[in-house]
Amino acid sequence: MTDYPHLLSPLDLGHTTLKNRVLMGSMHTGLEETRDWNRVAEFYATRARGGVGLMVTGGMAPNPEGGVFPGAAGLYSAEDIANHRIVTDRVHDAGGKIAMQILHAGRYAYSKDCVAPSAIKSPISPFPPRELDEAGIEKQITDMVTAATRAREAGYDGVEVMGSEGYFLNQFLVRHTNHRTDRWGGPYENRMRLPVEVVSRIRAAVGPDFIVIYRLSMIDLVPDGSTFEEVVQLAKAIESAGASILNTGIGWHEARVPTIATSVPRRAFAWVTRKLMGQVGIPIITSNRINTPQVAEEVLAEGCADMVSMARPFLADPDFVAKAQAGQAALIAPCIACNQACLDHTFGGKLSSCLVNPRACHETELVVTPAEARKSIAVVGAGPAGLSAALTCAERGHAVTLFDAQDEIGGQLNMAKQVPGKEEFWGLVDWYRAAVQAAGIDVRLNTHASAGDLAGFDEVIVATGVLPRDPQIPGQDGPNVLSYIDVLRGKARVGDRVAVIGAGGIGFDVAETLVTEKAHTDDLPEWMIEWGVTDPEAHRGGLAPEGPRPHPAVRDVTLLQRKAQKLGRGLGKTTGWIHRAGLQMKAVEMIGGVNYERIDADGLHISYGEARENPTCIAVDTVVLCAGQVPETALTEALTAQGTPCHVIGGADVAAELDAKRAIDQGTRLAATL
Ligand code: NAP
Ligand code: SF4
Repeated sequence: MTDYPHLLSPLDLGHTTLKNRVLMGSMHTGLEETRDWNRVAEFYATRARGGVGLMVTGGMAPNPEGGVFPGAAGLYSAEDIANHRIVTDRVHDAGGKIAMQILHAGRYAYSKDCVAPSAIKSPISPFPPRELDEAGIEKQITDMVTAATRAREAGYDGVEVMGSEGYFLNQFLVRHTNHRTDRWGGPYENRMRLPVEVVSRIRAAVGPDFIVIYRLSMIDLVPDGSTFEEVVQLAKAIESAGASILNTGIGWHEARVPTIATSVPRRAFAWVTRKLMGQVGIPIITSNRINTPQVAEEVLAEGCADMVSMARPFLADPDFVAKAQAGQAALIAPCIACNQACLDHTFGGKLSSCLVNPRACHETELVVTPAEARKSIAVVGAGPAGLSAALTCAERGHAVTLFDAQDEIGGQLNMAKQVPGKEEFWGLVDWYRAAVQAAGIDVRLNTHASAGDLAGFDEVIVATGVLPRDPQIPGQDGPNVLSYIDVLRGKARVGDRVAVIGAGGIGFDVAETLVTEKAHTDDLPEWMIEWGVTDPEAHRGGLAPEGPRPHPAVRDVTLLQRKAQKLGRGLGKTTGWIHRAGLQMKAVEMIGGVNYERIDADGLHISYGEARENPTCIAVDTVVLCAGQVPETALTEALTAQGTPCHVIGGADVAAELDAKRAIDQGTRLAATL
């Protein structure tokens, strides 16, 4: 008997049956652009072996003008088809099914050749699009149909037509981007003509025994977006045009509402998909912030959808389904929705991976094999670097002893989980605990391992982490000064007016903690009010007319840095705007280009610029130091003095710009070599 009867039940599509209700949603990983097809094949085959019902590839351009960026992958030649065959064959050999996504970016294409229904530039691209004429539209349809027939030739089980997220087809649907007056614009029947035409001509070209998924934007989250009545009308027309499955798209890329970030409540948009249930006869997939089998099962059991799409969770753990099936949900490495190694990499032009699982997209390069000889390995420090090293060493067959001075594993992850909106870190620490136990690692908590304790091990890995940097500000020893550790560990009383020194990741986290009375990550109605989201049946696009209504800040906070630049520039590419917007909504004052002169009972005294001009006192009750970190080197030095060789990883190695992504990657890579 399984805990997930709905999730693990098959889905009959008529000509074929999916073995369960789990779709690995489309992700642009950058793998196809490496043109290393063995690598691409291994990425998908690894996930097929993990039991997922159906996978969708990253978006493939139907033509150069529709590519997300110049050189974006597509099926243009016999050689492309043969290369994709390598992928589909490997997936089928692994018992999986895979559909290719056809993605035409329209005005989102990062190219001067981009095209759109109307010549209206998007706020997230520097390139104004060219308005298509009748012949131009016909060419786009033909190219999308050709992409589908080539996908079939390449052995794919189906295609997904990308009709959401504000891409080309979505741009025709709403007046926001479609100002045409011909048969492709004006009334809704005209605006929806293009997606319906594309699906119907694809179906005619590929025949009945091929999966055609249409990803439909069910809540646009942009001004002048679709009404829900239009969504239903389109869904019915797409069904009649021959689609096999409808997938849910949430929000355009230009929307100013977070839709997949970690602070978005789990299953935040399943209610939108549910509104469409019963309106069409084909299966409907729901999506966004579903990252555990329990949540996925709930969504299906409540009738929100027929199938669940999860994308990033398959980067974090390719064996998600197999572990759920085996009753080992606690051992599923969780996607914490941080975007740090997936979307931030994609938007930075880098190959994707995963913070939690550095092997994602590196399956052929970061290979973990059984060790030739079993060694005794000591790992000191149970933060992300030490934990990843310990787990990989144990996986390879080594005998691992893991020391930590604290009474719990997790290191700085235990601070991160206290930050409002970062509750997913609880799950990450829980997973590490379960994985460490399952791997048989000997964990010694409350233990300060000394150099002497470590002399007898074959290998010693030092992952002792960091210490707060001393900013050496006169008066910093006063009673009104705290460290970020005091605040994030919840041990200190903080006044009503606070200055935060340092605006890196931790400064932002501390500011968020100080202004927030209660996170809304587990309170969907409150979260929707905070970000101005409403039912698209009531208001076009699902945007509340009154806009975001944030809860007032519980403290007056000023966030400062010495650099004379916008605060938060170093935050994640895809999430930095959310952190900045969140603090701005709570009226946090952000000041750059300052010198810290001194701290006294009146508050924080600053001046501006190299000439130390405009001396000012920021009257605050508490000053919190978040001035970065330095490596904790005491153990490394003691081991060196004793003549015991060691490997130093994570913050103990390099603290600058340290984050969990680098720590976990370094720990895993070291352990793969010992
Ligand atoms: P950080 O990102 O390096 O920021 C340190 C801050 O302290 C900067 O704002 C810096 O700005 C300031 N600073 C540096 N030296 C100073 C000095 N001597 N006196 C006063 N101020 C000084 O470090 P962090 O905030 O401690 O974060 C550590 C790591 O965790 C980072 O890699 C961060 O990305 C990661 N993290 C990430 C997130 C996330 O959301 N992704 C969240 C938390 C932490 P100025 O030099 O301009 O003053
Ligand atoms: Fe999830 Fe973060 Fe991994 Fe991306 S990097 S898959 S968001 S855990």
